[in-house]
Amino acid sequence: MKIVVLKFGGTSVGTIDRIKKVANLITNYAKKKYKLIVVSSAMSGVTNDLVIKSKNISNNFSDSEYDALVSSGEQVACSLIAGRLIHKGYKSRSWMGWQVPIITDNKHKYAKINQIYKTKIIKYLKSGGIPIIAGFQGVNAEGRVTTIGRGGSDASAIMLAKFFKAERCIIYTDVEGVYTTDPKKLKKAKKIRVISYEEMLEMASLGAKVMQPVSIQDARLSRIDVEVKSSFKNKPGTLITKRKNIINRNIITGISSTQNDAKVTLVGVKDRPGVAASIFKPLSESSINVDMVVQNISANGKETDLTFTIKNEDLRKTRRITNSNKKIKFKKLLFDKNVSKVSIIGVGMITTPGVTYRMFQALAKHKINIQVISTSEIKISVLINKININKAIDALHKEFKLEV
Ligand code: ADP
Ligand code: ASP
Ligand code: MG
Repeated sequence: MKIVVLKFGGTSVGTIDRIKKVANLITNYAKKKYKLIVVSSAMSGVTNDLVIKSKNISNNFSDSEYDALVSSGEQVACSLIAGRLIHKGYKSRSWMGWQVPIITDNKHKYAKINQIYKTKIIKYLKSGGIPIIAGFQGVNAEGRVTTIGRGGSDASAIMLAKFFKAERCIIYTDVEGVYTTDPKKLKKAKKIRVISYEEMLEMASLGAKVMQPVSIQDARLSRIDVEVKSSFKNKPGTLITKRKNIINRNIITGISSTQNDAKVTLVGVKDRPGVAASIFKPLSESSINVDMVVQNISANGKETDLTFTIKNEDLRKTRRITNSNKKIKFKKLLFDKNVSKVSIIGVGMITTPGVTYRMFQALAKHKINIQVISTSEIKISVLINKININKAIDALHKEFKLEV
């Protein structure tokens, strides 16, 4: 059975008109005699509204009720798509995660898909039906609805492609593919034809919203080729695949940026073994993700300054935890919300010397001050003032000749 998984994101199903267009796109595939598994996200804006409602009803809204609430947007979108296909004379129905079932672990809000039972869907496909499966959701061993993290419909699609051994997995979205940088921020951004899992994973983790990072990790582990395309224009998109399938490449493949970082500095911390561990232990116990870290060399051998970044939303908690941490002593605690992380990503940097220098030089030319740096084999990230973000992306895009 030749199965193709088609996933539609929020904007692709954002209005009744768009859902009608999506239904036409689905029936064009159906005419080619593929067996289709369709995955849909909620109509754009719906999940955000539900999250706001949960916050307005309680500042301590239960995680299991959060999942029951925010997963409901997908039910609406799936039913509307199926309804339109039925209207067009096709056999179709919506499937919620628990109906398939898509089994996840118990971690509400960030559950992981462990198993997808195929029997019912295969039977339905054989009967000529087009299943429209809700993305972003599953069910745990206790029969409770779970969700798999914001943007999680991408991961739902990739896991369905894995379990059903699909020939293709196509992610339809509101841009033509993966670009060298967010095309909504930089008009000169260029579509990338082929990108490796590793680069896509870095780009996504460092802020390129077009694909959810977990989904890319799943695709990489299962060696699933993923195509990213526009649901509005019939144009070739981007293929996410193994590194060895890619021949031609630039030094840098793409640039990502984040919006919601905060910088925390502990001034005058006692410089002795174990101090960093004492600072970060209670943060990790409260599930606060620390990203970039820099510790200055202590001038007097006794005290040092330690800077790290976290997500903006964790700032209040971090402040409270750090101030009440009896294991550490420091003179001052400073916070800065006006920071952004800009990263350049590319496997080409492994074999090309001088990339770091070129990045720093390009930023310096535009008088952009670098506050913190972090690197891995295939990426360099810098923390800068938020107001410089577009200038920095533009400068780096030019420096690494991404627009040609
Ligand atoms: P969907 O609703 O289809 O899941 P998303 O909004 O999650 O779509 O992701 C698509 C958006 O990702 C685009 O509209 C674009 O602004 C943003 N984006 C950020 N970085 C990139 C990039 N490098 N390439 C393409 N799009 C990007
Ligand atoms: N609707 C969910 C969200 O907004 C899942 C998704 O869009 O992939 O996060
Ligand atoms: Mg998305």
